[in-house]
Amino acid sequence: MEIKTLKCQNCGAPLKVSESEERIICPYCGVVNVVIGDVPAAETPDIIRAQKSRSVAIFVVVGVTLLIAIMVFVFIIMGLAH
Ligand SMILES: [Zn+2]
Repeated sequence: MEIKTLKCQNCGAPLKVSESEERIICPYCGVVNVVIGDVPAAETPDIIRAQKSRSVAIFVVVGVTLLIAIMVFVFIIMGLAH
């Protein structure tokens, strides 16, 4: 198996990458380098931001669903009380 030496996109440290690896975490600075072809690319903050906003969107959907469920439950309880 071929071992390539690539540079960390963040700190420039040499990284030994085997051919099958797609991601390598820099042992010096901890940045995840994504290997695309022969060039490593640090995961951009844009990708991390997109992942964060997606989890926020899921949180909002779950929250709204729960709120509606609670409201329906309260209406049923109030209906039964009369
Ligand atoms: Zn590094």
